Amino acid sequence: MSTTSPQERIPVALLGATGSVGQRFIELLADHPWFRLAAITASPRSAGKPYGKAARWMQASTLPDAVAKMEVLPTAPESASGCPLVFSALDSQAADLVELDFAAAGHMVVSNAKSYRMDPRVPLIVPEVNPNHLRLLESQPWAGGLATNPNCSTIGLMLALKPLEDAFGIEKVHVVTLQALSGAGVPGVPSLQAVDNVVPFIGGEEDKLESETGKILGRFDDGQIHHHSAVVSAHCNRVPVIDGHTLCVSVSLARPASPEDLFAAWNQYRGEPQRLDLPTAPAQPVHVLSQPDAPQPRLHRDLDGGMAATVGRLRPCPLLDYKFVTLSHNTLRGAAGGALLLAELALARGQIPGIEIPQEESLRMEGSDS
Ligand code: NAP
Repeated sequence: MSTTSPQERIPVALLGATGSVGQRFIELLADHPWFRLAAITASPRSAGKPYGKAARWMQASTLPDAVAKMEVLPTAPESASGCPLVFSALDSQAADLVELDFAAAGHMVVSNAKSYRMDPRVPLIVPEVNPNHLRLLESQPWAGGLATNPNCSTIGLMLALKPLEDAFGIEKVHVVTLQALSGAGVPGVPSLQAVDNVVPFIGGEEDKLESETGKILGRFDDGQIHHHSAVVSAHCNRVPVIDGHTLCVSVSLARPASPEDLFAAWNQYRGEPQRLDLPTAPAQPVHVLSQPDAPQPRLHRDLDGGMAATVGRLRPCPLLDYKFVTLSHNTLRGAAGGALLLAELALARGQIPGIEIPQEESLRMEGSDS
């Protein structure tokens, strides 16, 4: 039972509803207790068509009949009229052009696109890791607001690193990613590139891991984020896995710690989403797996509804202090599920313009700082 809830389901709009991430949103919103899908948009190629005709449905679940019949609207603020909350799963070139229009028109936009992640006015949130960065919303210049979900690999890395940062401090990180095909959107990577192959290049991805980490682990003070000084070096690779990004991580710590200390930090880690029992929160954000060959995408990406990170293979690193493997689901925790959790957190904190939650159910956020 959640500690807070709106009195009736809030109508939400979904931008970029036809893509890989948009489809995951449709699945997750079908039974969401707080949000109701009221409007869907996509590119001019899709606008005006019923969703069932516009989208190439790529999920194992059945497309809900009601959504199949919904008209895909143009991606413009008028299409979200009556929706205080707007989720964006837009291609970043489209997001560059329109997300601020939605925020200016009074909508609270929760975006998966890279466009505004590093804008100092815009929070970049992993709900367990830096919930207090949502305070940036208080000084944004728009009638609505804009908050962003990090890169899908960055999210998994943050869930694995934040417990270590809190307990021992992080100084240096070396990470090699093995990223799933669904990370490239619909229709995805051409089969002749994907099958029997590894592609050691994903445009812009290494820079995102290296820059977003400092912002997310940074400190909110004086109305701004002071970036963390940890140095991150990333190699990103596309591999023939459908869902789930695997990261091989080496880390140096500011204070000495035993392997048991690291296991304890991961196992005991909980954040605001767990304290508040938010609808999309995993019971446990980080699962430590003891099998010698874990984690693996096919076996472990769906743990805790695809919202948890798994870690395993912890061992000493001859270059830095420790090395381990972490895995998280790229379109669930790394995109649609992460954005829903972000919106639930913002709602619970009373930070979505135009939505009041009952006073007695508002949250006791004072003192929560991370
Ligand atoms: P995608 O499958 O390529 O979907 C892109 C969506 O944007 C489609 O709905 C597309 O509509 C729409 N769109 C494209 N051009 C448009 C335009 N000019 N105006 C309006 N809508 C337009 O991409 P995706 O993988 O779902 O990713 C969506 C966003 O999330 C991207 O910014 C991506 O970087 C980010 N992201 C993706 C993942 C992942 O694992 N896939 C994870 C984290 C973040 P049409 O179908 O009509 O073309």
